[in-house]
Amino acid sequence: MSSRIPNILLIGAGTFGKKHLKTLLELEKQGVLTLAGVVVRTERSMQALKRKLTVPVYCGVSDELLGQVDAVDIVTLAETHFELVTKCLPKAHVFIEKPLAPSVKESADIKKLANSSPHILMVGHIFRFHPAIMRLKKMVKSEKSRPHSIEATFINPLISDNGRDVQLEMLHPFDIVDYLFNKSVAEKHTEDKGRLHVVSLLYRGGMRAVMKLGWSGEKKERTIRLLYKHQQILCNLETKTITVYQNGLVKNTVDVSGATEALENELRAFIRAVRKPSADYPDADVGNRIVEIAAKRQMVIKTPSSRKKVAVIGAGIFGTNCAIELAPFCNVTVFEKNKSILSEASYINQYRHHWGYHYPRSQETVNDITNAITDFEKRYKSAIITRFPTYYGVAKKNSKVTPEEYLAFCDKNSLPYTLEFPDKQFLDKEKTAICLKTYEPIYNYQKLKDITAGLLKKRKVNVRLGAEIIGARILPDGRKELIIKKGGTIRRETFDYVINVTYARYNNFCAWFNFPRKPIRIDLVEALWVKLNIPKISLAVMDGEFTNMVPTGTDGVFTLVHIKKSILRRFVPKDGLVPKDIFESAKHSRIKQTIEQSAIWFPIVKEAKLLRAQYVLRGVNAYREHDDARTSDITEHGFGCFSILGGKLLNAVLSAKQLSRLIAD
Ligand SMILES: Cc1cc2nc3c(=O)[nH]c(=O)nc-3n(C[C@H](O)[C@H](O)[C@H](O)COP(=O)(O)OP(=O)(O)OC[C@H]3O[C@@H](n4cnc5c(N)ncnc54)[C@H](O)[C@@H]3O)c2cc1C
Repeated sequence: MSSRIPNILLIGAGTFGKKHLKTLLELEKQGVLTLAGVVVRTERSMQALKRKLTVPVYCGVSDELLGQVDAVDIVTLAETHFELVTKCLPKAHVFIEKPLAPSVKESADIKKLANSSPHILMVGHIFRFHPAIMRLKKMVKSEKSRPHSIEATFINPLISDNGRDVQLEMLHPFDIVDYLFNKSVAEKHTEDKGRLHVVSLLYRGGMRAVMKLGWSGEKKERTIRLLYKHQQILCNLETKTITVYQNGLVKNTVDVSGATEALENELRAFIRAVRKPSADYPDADVGNRIVEIAAKRQMVIKTPSSRKKVAVIGAGIFGTNCAIELAPFCNVTVFEKNKSILSEASYINQYRHHWGYHYPRSQETVNDITNAITDFEKRYKSAIITRFPTYYGVAKKNSKVTPEEYLAFCDKNSLPYTLEFPDKQFLDKEKTAICLKTYEPIYNYQKLKDITAGLLKKRKVNVRLGAEIIGARILPDGRKELIIKKGGTIRRETFDYVINVTYARYNNFCAWFNFPRKPIRIDLVEALWVKLNIPKISLAVMDGEFTNMVPTGTDGVFTLVHIKKSILRRFVPKDGLVPKDIFESAKHSRIKQTIEQSAIWFPIVKEAKLLRAQYVLRGVNAYREHDDARTSDITEHGFGCFSILGGKLLNAVLSAKQLSRLIAD
């Protein structure tokens, strides 16, 4: 290692050059380097800068000047890099801003020069020196496995758009993933939305990434989220914080906002490499590799002037609403394996228009409901039945929330109630600590269906009933081919985008496309429809393995579901898939137990006449027993593929709007 303090020449004093200048001056004060001077392009800039600086300012780089310095710090436009490197590298060590070059050809030429030079060439991949990424690297190293997916957002406000190539300018996430995981790219798909690119990457070894890069909106965003099977690590480079989530709970937060700035770390690393060339730094090989990824234009979908072709798989409340939202901008086809829309979980459920009372352990779910309710009510107002009493009792024994906690939760969320028990035939007071009376509505299923069917027709959505998707793949040009089984025939059709809204069967889609599967808990539920000659009344016992009786749109007809007895099978399939013989378990019916156990709480149930039992699959995020969360999750798999795992019916409209924005924008 050389003991001499290196003599550095800064080339370029534009916006970034000035930042370098400031940091170089600070490092000079600390005795880390000597600033030999600043080189600018024009006489005018030279004169202007000379007035402000005590160090020499030059116009243009001469061989003589290069002969007097140990290293140069080049902070100029990428178009000038090849010429400057050719001139400087034979005489001095070089630090050069990213991207290494504006084209793969020039970048490869620079790499060749660097590899045969006695001097080092370090590329300014600054995020390798960002304190949050440095910490993230340590965290990633200590994990047993790699994440299955990565989501990155590197967006600058539209107003700051410099008109340069989106991916070369915003290549940081490519570099961060390279730095963290050292994996090469096998496939790349770019959705070109003008100044915003959605880039999907498949890395060798199977890891996937979806990156949003470019200029859009008014906010600067810099986040990277690593998704592991049971945890997520969210790194916010703006706030310099890292949050680790495990099964929906915050496990750990790291704040590195007080740490040394990335640029200082980076320039110190350069000086270290100048003094000891065997030190670790992003060299020309790295710089060239990242340019290659950024410039790779494989499978590009340009926002077409013609309408995009979208397939929606599943015509439940979520799928149909996606189609309704997208139809004004795209040609939408909905595929439904059954003979009618809203025929599975969107039909066999308890029709509660949830206000939040049901989720005292999941504030996230209540927030989801609060955010979504207005959009849903706008669309489905006439399907919502109000003005009948709803009672939420809290059990004296074995409740997961205490009466005090339940009341505090309702108050916090401004959920209206009076403390009031119904008549004793409806709820056993002896077993119940407190009872809240409110007026939470329900849906009229037939009206939900009619409104949905009407909108699908009005918006000219192509609805294919009895059409099951049995396979799919991404074609080399980026389009998605679906294999459709209808009756005895099998056909193939291609689409620009595919949306998976198959609820409990979510992971079939992931299996077809080889996307990471979501851990989903499957419940086979036996829901009872019973007749009681009483006015509408809704009853629930909180919070745990108790029971619910909720009216339906038909007078005197109620649904009865016991949280334990009505679940005939509950499991998290290892492969994520619903077994073919799942409905075989319906043989082990527990109708009698459900009625008996419900009657313990709601004595009126003894008088109920069973109309029918209906069997339905519920699919929810696995391992959420601690909070019983039922949020609606949108996943952007990349390659033009999306999924929604529906939580509550009323999330359907907002989720569909959010998803349609991802496609239509
Ligand atoms: C017992 C029970 C009670 C509930 N109570 C309530 C309640 O009171 N209030 C509330 O808001 N929510 C309730 N929910 C939740 C609610 O029902 C669901 O969140 C919602 O229905 C999910 O809608 P979806 O469109 O995602 O699913 P679904 O309605 O199940 O639609 C998915 C569709 O995809 C189709 N499909 C699957 N695979 C394929 C394929 N390969 N090709 C073509 N089509 C395919 C299916 O046939 C199905 O029609 C309840 C759920 C259950 C199970």
